[in-house]
Amino acid sequence: MPEPVIQVRPEGLYVPAADLHIDPRRAVRRAIITHAHADHARAGHGRILASPTSRALLEHRLPGTPVSVLPWRTRHPFGKATISLHPAGHVLGSAQVRVEVDRETWVVSGDYKRQADPTCETFESVPCDTFITEATFALPVYRWPEPADVATDVLRWIRHNRDQGRSSLLLAYSLGKAQRVLAELHRHPEAQAVLGDPVVVHDAVAAINQLYRDAGIDLPPTRRIEDRPTGERRAPIVAIAPPAVDGSRWAKRLGVHDHAFVSGWMRIRGIRRRRAASRGFLLSDHADWPGLLRTIEESGARRVLVTHGRPDVLVRVLRERGVAAAPLEGPWEPAGEEG
Ligand SMILES: [Zn+2]
Repeated sequence: MPEPVIQVRPEGLYVPAADLHIDPRRAVRRAIITHAHADHARAGHGRILASPTSRALLEHRLPGTPVSVLPWRTRHPFGKATISLHPAGHVLGSAQVRVEVDRETWVVSGDYKRQADPTCETFESVPCDTFITEATFALPVYRWPEPADVATDVLRWIRHNRDQGRSSLLLAYSLGKAQRVLAELHRHPEAQAVLGDPVVVHDAVAAINQLYRDAGIDLPPTRRIEDRPTGERRAPIVAIAPPAVDGSRWAKRLGVHDHAFVSGWMRIRGIRRRRAASRGFLLSDHADWPGLLRTIEESGARRVLVTHGRPDVLVRVLRERGVAAAPLEGPWEPAGEEG
């Protein structure tokens, strides 16, 4: 039997024909990094290959590591392999990796989603023989609502808080989710009436916002908490910060406030959160159950290997549909707050 085009090694996915890794968890000589989230982009690699829009984000998060750009959809020879990157729709710059060796094609999805997102490239379906898919939300219970409806709920919550004299703190992962929340709120017809002044963002979010703007992504103006006029320091405001900021000194500067998480995990964590007198909004940067099935079908793959999260149910359903599916055992880590 010929060697698999992509192998699982202790350090992560490896392409023998090209002698390079994809999103390895340990430092390697040469790695393709699908996107700049910490569980995919590790420090210490000799050289990183990434999409054009990932480059600045990776240089920000991994200073000192050289990043070479692979232009979208362009096929590059690496040893006996031909490799290209294709948008994954997860966050700005997120890529799927297409690897072709001896006319056999494999695609590694990386993290991906199928919902429209005004802050990143749209997912593109890439035909292949073997598709390696993520499975962060691979259960039928995961079905995302329309982002516009989520924005309506968020604005209603903000208005309610303001009526009670409280500020509103949205807790969202600083790379991707925070920018998407900003953009989705501001494209809502009631945004101006409800939000009023520019949204306050934590410095971690502000830094990523700037990189998004530099890449040509249209984000509304934001401000830092220090920028509030002295006379308005007691007036309710709207703020976006990473989840780790909850309860911190920074959050205390908002004064009396209510907080809410923005994540796909709200689907299961909602009950617990509500009991803690706060709430969450369901907006995920991963594919939901219908999105996973649709993507696998569109790939035309005769074999599907499932990484991350919950492979069992997805593998069983695919096998019932006649697809050769299997969990891909490896050193994967569960998605953290980046849902
Ligand atoms: Zn990610």
